Amino acid sequence: MALNGKFPGESKTDNDAGYAKVDQYNSGLTRRIAEKYRTILQDLGENPEREGLQKTPERVAKALQFLTHGKDLDPAEILRSAMFREEYQQMVIVKDIELYSLCEHHVLPFFGKCHVAYIPNGRIVGLSKLPRVVDAFARRLQVQERLTVEIRNCIEETLKPQGVAVVIEAQHMCMVMRGIQKQHSIATTSAFTGEFNAEKTRAEFMRLISRGNPVG
Ligand SMILES: [Zn+2]
Repeated sequence: MALNGKFPGESKTDNDAGYAKVDQYNSGLTRRIAEKYRTILQDLGENPEREGLQKTPERVAKALQFLTHGKDLDPAEILRSAMFREEYQQMVIVKDIELYSLCEHHVLPFFGKCHVAYIPNGRIVGLSKLPRVVDAFARRLQVQERLTVEIRNCIEETLKPQGVAVVIEAQHMCMVMRGIQKQHSIATTSAFTGEFNAEKTRAEFMRLISRGNPVG
């Protein structure tokens, strides 16, 4: 997704589309994780020397670094980099933000959509920054509940708006893949501040995020 944050220092893509170039990973860390992962493959009864697995430990080491790099980002700074004075006082909504995170209990993905809204109080933020804040908090070991609250608190504390609303709808691979017969279940979490604690405002927000996408 074009709006989402990039890996720190990422400038261009190579064969590993979506990943940073190899030399931008911490080589010592990559080596240490890869060594452990080679042992894990053996413990799983695999032969790490067979062709398909030879480079797997290194690939996993890089993938894990990418999938957790959000903890090295400063989401508040992402917002502060594009705040503007503006008298607009109506609800601002960015809905259907793609979300990819890792469940900290199983280190398996959970993914879905995040909807973010705020009501400005003299300041607005560049719209593309909200998906980047979502990404910065999602790209780390998480639970959906904490992720929801962290996004809300970051916007609340940085922008000091009249209210913030965050809703996340996600599927968890630890539920879907581990034989629990809940293949289509979606977990929904929400967090609100200020004006969104008022029934009428919250209902308006929920109505706006639940209707179909007007641009397809
Ligand atoms: Zn889990």
